[in-house]
Amino acid sequence: MTPRFSLGLSLALGFAVISTFATSQSAAAAVPKSTDVVIVGAGLSGLAAAYELKKAGLKYHILELTPRVGGRVRTVKYDFPGEPATFADSGMEEYWESNPAVQVLKELKLPTLHDVAISSLALGGKIYELGDEDQAQFYGRIFSKSELEKLEGFKKEVAPMIEKMMNAWKKMPEEAMPADLLKLKDISFADWVKKKSMPEKVAQWIRVSVECEIGTAWDRISALDGLAEFHIFAANGGKGEEAYRVVAGNEKFVNTFADAIGRGNISLNSRVQRVVSRKGKVSVFYVDQAIHKAGQIDAAHVITTIPPFRAVIEMQFDPPLSAKKLAAIQSQTWGSYFKAHIFLPLSAQKFWTRGKNSILPILSDSELGVIYDGNRGQENAKTKIISLLITGDHAERYNLMPMDVTRAQLTAKLDQLWPGVSKEIKGMEFFRLHPRAIGAWPVGRSRFDEMSNELRRPEGGIHLAGDFTETSHSDGAFLSAKRAVRQILQARKTK
Ligand SMILES: Cc1cc2nc3c(=O)[nH]c(=O)nc-3n(C[C@H](O)[C@H](O)[C@H](O)COP(=O)(O)OP(=O)(O)OC[C@H]3O[C@@H](n4cnc5c(N)ncnc54)[C@H](O)[C@@H]3O)c2cc1C
Repeated sequence: MTPRFSLGLSLALGFAVISTFATSQSAAAAVPKSTDVVIVGAGLSGLAAAYELKKAGLKYHILELTPRVGGRVRTVKYDFPGEPATFADSGMEEYWESNPAVQVLKELKLPTLHDVAISSLALGGKIYELGDEDQAQFYGRIFSKSELEKLEGFKKEVAPMIEKMMNAWKKMPEEAMPADLLKLKDISFADWVKKKSMPEKVAQWIRVSVECEIGTAWDRISALDGLAEFHIFAANGGKGEEAYRVVAGNEKFVNTFADAIGRGNISLNSRVQRVVSRKGKVSVFYVDQAIHKAGQIDAAHVITTIPPFRAVIEMQFDPPLSAKKLAAIQSQTWGSYFKAHIFLPLSAQKFWTRGKNSILPILSDSELGVIYDGNRGQENAKTKIISLLITGDHAERYNLMPMDVTRAQLTAKLDQLWPGVSKEIKGMEFFRLHPRAIGAWPVGRSRFDEMSNELRRPEGGIHLAGDFTETSHSDGAFLSAKRAVRQILQARKTK
């Protein structure tokens, strides 16, 4: 084992050092010549697949391209001079209650914080601050009586549809989605909601709630997928699901997860370039990125967890993936995210604190996206980190904007939200690592259609997994891992 991996970049402003939280291990961690299952990628999907295989008593080995585990899960640690270290997630933030990750967090005994499914809202230039109140009281301040009745009516109408959808999903890919639901893939979520003569404010609330989840506009996804996203707000009798956060950041989760599946079963710095499938055997060819040495592992199955659009660009499949699978991959689309950490002195908390309560997070329809308290609960921190999750077209724009322009634009936007806050800003860091942050499906396609089902069917011992094969979030990572392992166990039974 080599020591911990640390980026240790000096910030341009010279007041802090940032480093990732990741532990690293030698790329030379003995790679076996053969195993039961090779897993490509050590993000949440790869780790979850290994966790399931371990429970099932099968042998596995993970090959990961980068020098760390976690993939799109990243927590950045900041060492501001003279201050205790503080950290904030630069990748994913939270896990909804129905996400299988929540059960794993419990099994790994990781402390979590959880929140109700409501948050402050910035809509049409007006901010509705969530106070010390329940959902009914809060919504009573946002909506008129008739708007509220419409919203509750909508939730009641969609609840049984969502339940039917979720039950059908459990039987995929073996069974298809019922036809009455499947036809909702051919109309956009926006048009479907508008057809219900929804009051404008209610329609906008639905739009804003769903768009930050999918990282794209609600008229670019189908009503079927929109409803699948809306399930987190319709759950628990319309109260919505709780959101869980990992105390100490998500990187703590992936590192504990990697320890649980055994670091000796993970080879870092290993780029998989080719998967060859012949007569019930799969050979996985990789190149060690540190020493440029090629290697091979043979197995009965391979689970690739790289987003499929990326897998087909970066890896050869021999024989090639079927034309149907390729069509499913190429007709998929994506959601975009851009993340910013804004550093402020503790005195700036007055902007978002009312009495003793923080009004964060704020779900905003402006380009600021979702505004989180990035280092919430870190009582010793002397610098506050506001974490912005900018989504959709705004994210696409910010992802391509010169850094200094980005800083100027965000400063102006924050000043509009909280007049005077710009004077307090000490610096910013931007994370634009994800041009295709999450998976999505255009109108006419869906995560529930036959093409998606086809993608989820194994081919010559190759199982395509990863969040993009299932949903737009990390729940997809866990669901895909469970599905792939279930398919492997089934195949072994019928052999
Ligand atoms: C900014 C941001 C915020 C998010 N917020 C949330 C949130 O709040 N809640 C939520 O549920 N989800 C959120 N998500 C989505 C969530 O992060 C992902 O669903 C999840 O991390 C995907 O995990 P994965 O293992 O499927 O993919 P990845 O994390 O992408 O893992 C794939 C792995 O494969 C490796 N790899 C790639 N190519 C190769 C190769 N050739 N050989 C070997 N290895 C390779 C990669 O390095 C990577 O480690 C967010 C995503 C982003 C980008």
